[in-house]
Amino acid sequence: MTRPYNFSAGPAAMPEEVLTQAAAEMLNWHGSGMGVMEMSHRGKEFGQIYEEAEADLRELLAVPAHFKLLFMQGGGLAENAIVPLNLSRGETADFVVTGSWSQKSAQEARRYCTANVAASTESSGFTTLPDPASWQLSAKPAYVHICSNETINGVEYHTLPDLHSLGCDAPLVIDFSSHVASRPLDWSRVGLAFGGAQKNLGPAGLTLVVVRDDLLERALPICPSAFNYKTVTANASMFNTPPTYSMYVAGLVFKWLKAQGGIQAIEARNIAKARLLYDAIDTSTLYVNKVEKHCRSRMNVPFYLRDENLNDAFLSGARERRLLQLKGHKSVGGMRASIYNAMPLEGVQALVDFLREFETQHAP
Ligand SMILES: *Cc1c(COP(=O)(O)O)cnc(C)c1O
Repeated sequence: MTRPYNFSAGPAAMPEEVLTQAAAEMLNWHGSGMGVMEMSHRGKEFGQIYEEAEADLRELLAVPAHFKLLFMQGGGLAENAIVPLNLSRGETADFVVTGSWSQKSAQEARRYCTANVAASTESSGFTTLPDPASWQLSAKPAYVHICSNETINGVEYHTLPDLHSLGCDAPLVIDFSSHVASRPLDWSRVGLAFGGAQKNLGPAGLTLVVVRDDLLERALPICPSAFNYKTVTANASMFNTPPTYSMYVAGLVFKWLKAQGGIQAIEARNIAKARLLYDAIDTSTLYVNKVEKHCRSRMNVPFYLRDENLNDAFLSGARERRLLQLKGHKSVGGMRASIYNAMPLEGVQALVDFLREFETQHAP
């Protein structure tokens, strides 16, 4: 029997092939007699797993040679502290607040530096992106932070801002937790990117950081060694024990992505999936998505039922059709369908079929 379609925002559905392979290798990885979680992170077996994961991810994301790729722990929320500890010099950093996650980033940074909000879309209910030309950047920010895909609000940058064209030579920091590897990325505009793995890369516990070489020298003296990018880099992500099993499973996801045709191919599928779902919402009388079309997320599609009294019936009807975890984030209510790389077009089609069926039953 096929598995249900799982629309969780994170930890999120994994490619079935990856789960099957991880299960097959659970007790005995490649004839080593050990499962991956039983291996020393300094042994040759895990060394091979790490090196392949690093190389595959670098190739998939087309990360230039002057960026380091770090596998860390702590998740996106820990990076909200780790980034200012490493980059702020205790001075001013600028934040563009476009949803719950960038708002949290600015709040956390205030412990370590001055956080200037260069723009905020809170008054619109986080349904749009501000034109970079309107940002009130500070005179010499240590860095400029954006969340390139707001997982809760469903707002995505389809083009990264070009700080140079705004007369700013600070590095751009992006929180790409929830759309990493869903589309190509223009590294020429980025100084540092970070993301938790549990949305689009693999299991929780692994945090990916991609940082430009010239940004490794700025850490505050109070920065914990295990979170100092220079220390982590110098030890090839093994200053402390890294999340080895999560790295291994993420490595299987990278191989799966390559077998799918890489990022360009997966992007084309993501575009088709998002179009199918947004079209169904926009042409209905029962459902509504409030985000402006130019910045709607391809990964996280929040929507509301115009009659909220139907929410429980909607969710239980969905569950009966084996469409799981569609409830919206508690801070915004409504529904949310997260359609990451691992969600096939057939899963989105099954959701759209259910949306139409439920609408026919309940439309006024
Ligand atoms: C999920 C998420 C986070 C938080 O990740 P944790 O692993 O829970 O710390 C941060 N930023 C974005 C954009 C996210 O989607």
